[in-house]
This record gives sequence, structure tokens and C-alpha cells, in this order.
Amino acid sequence: MSQPSQFAVFGHPIAHSLSPRIHEAFARQFGIALEYRTIDATPAEFVAAVRGFFAAGGAGANVTLPHKAAAFALADERSAAATRAGSANVLTPLADGRLAAHNTDGDGLVRDLTERHRVDLRGHDALMLGAGGAARGVAWSLLDAGVQTLTIVNRTPETADALADAIGEPARVHTRYWNDLADLGSYDLIVNATSAGVLGEGLKLPPSLVGARALCCDLAYGSAAIGFLAWARAAGARYAFDGLGMLVETAADAFELWHGRRPDTEPVYQALRAS
Ligand code: NDP
Repeated sequence: MSQPSQFAVFGHPIAHSLSPRIHEAFARQFGIALEYRTIDATPAEFVAAVRGFFAAGGAGANVTLPHKAAAFALADERSAAATRAGSANVLTPLADGRLAAHNTDGDGLVRDLTERHRVDLRGHDALMLGAGGAARGVAWSLLDAGVQTLTIVNRTPETADALADAIGEPARVHTRYWNDLADLGSYDLIVNATSAGVLGEGLKLPPSLVGARALCCDLAYGSAAIGFLAWARAAGARYAFDGLGMLVETAADAFELWHGRRPDTEPVYQALRAS
């Protein structure tokens, strides 16, 4: 009997990743036999660990913190979304042994908001907190989804400026200083793309940012998102979502790249939400 295909997610730390559970649930929908494991690699170990995984027949890998830029750098081919973000969360072996990099973060977030939560992003004035890898992954997708303006605010302002420059749409994309948040007025969409929650560092945000019908979204999920979502609800947000739906949607894109089939994300999302 042939061995099941081998998949993995690389990160550091990675033990608590939901990706194995998500991909195994997708595979069950189609009767696909696969093994999906977590591989903890430090930045110094990452490239050798990835090369070793694919040399041993690995059929696909997800990549998460802190390796997304390194995954992009080591790939031989890069999708348009990975290229503009400068980072990759999916590595796929090509027939000739080279590696292709994709970034599914932006599409995953937009699909979660527009299809699962049925929010129309067109015309929204959006504020994005953070300018790291996830922010780079989602910024272009938000603009593609029709947000009218995107204001990027990052603790380190130079990184926000670099992202705005890379996007190159000065009429729609602006940067402001973190210390000026209380003076910025209100937004229709607020995306928390900082890792403050994951690091256990609370954000002190003024309620005045939250517009009357605002959607507030934390890319983090679980306990890491509790503080931001509580702030959003207290400030009167109409919707407050965490990043669990985005995680499931980004996994579905990777699954389709590897298996050529589109899984039904809703039962998997509901099962994770329930637990
Ligand atoms: P990065 O390390 O690349 O970027 C972190 C960002 O957070 C930087 O902009 C950093 O600012 C900012 N930041 C960190 N701590 C603070 C703080 N105390 N106050 C203000 N800003 C802070 O991380 P990622 O972009 O990869 O990840 C960001 C978040 O997105 C994480 O919570 C991650 O879990 C989540 N994520 C969720 C996904 C999903 O599928 N749901 C997918 C990808 C990411 P500075 O530049 O000043 O350091």
C-alpha cells in the first residue's frame, strides 16, 4: 500500500497550530489519505528543515511566524500575491523539484469577511494597525475588495511608510503616527494586524476610532484576540471578528493548490469555533 502524502506546517513555536486539524478535516471530505504534522524550526534551522522535508517527498508545506519572509526568499517561483507581500505562507513542490511560493493571507481574510460574514467592504474607510508580514499579506487584498481608503498605523512608523510606498496609491493609502490615534477620527473597518495580543501585550486604543457601523477584525484568534474584540465591542462596533475564519480560508486555498479540490470550510470553521 502506498504511503499517505506528507504535509507540514513550519513555525517557531508551532506546537499549538490548528493547521493539522484543519487539513485533516478537509481531507476527510474527499476521502484523501494524508499526514500533516507540525515542524518546529528556529530561523537558523528553517531552510535546511524545508529542504529536507521536500527531499524526503513532502507534498506541501504551510509556513507561519517567523518564517514567512524566509519561505518567500528560498522559493524558485512566486505568485503575484506572495511577490507583492514579500512573504509566503504556502510552499508547493513543482514537478522538476523546484519550489513555488504562495501567499493566501489576503484572499483568506477577504473571503472570511465578505462570504462568511457577508460584509460588503466597498467604500469603507479602513484603518490597519500594524505593518508586519500579515499586514503586507492583506493590505492589497483589502484595496482590491474595494475599500476606499486605507490608513496604516504602525508602532515603528518607517515600516508603515515602506508598506504604503510599496502599494503606491497615495490617493487611497495613508500613514499616520501611533501617538496620533486619538486624533484620527473614526473608521468603518479596523484591522488589528499587530502581534500585540499573541505577545500578551495589550493595545491602548481610543474608542473614537470606531465608526457607527464599524467592522473590527483581529487577525489573531483565541485568547490573543480577546482584548481587541472586547475593546471593539465596548466602543460600539457593529461587528467584531477574530482571525479564525481567515485561518480556515487560507488553509482552504493551500488545500486546493495541493489537491486540486475546494473543501467546504464552514463545517470545519464551526467545529473549531465550538471547541
Ligand atoms: P510580524 O511580527 O510580522 O508583525 C508584527 C506587527 O505587530 C508589527 O507591525 C509590530 O510593530 C506590531 N506590534 C507588535 N507588538 C506591538 C505592540 N505591543 N504594540 C503595537 N504594535 C505592536 O507578525 P505578523 O504580521 O506575521 O502577525 C501579526 C498577527 O497576525 C499575529 O497575531 C498573527 O497571529 C496574525 N495572523 C493571523 C493569520 C490568520 O490566518 N488568522 C495569518 C497571519 C497572521 P513594529 O513594526 O513596531 O514591531
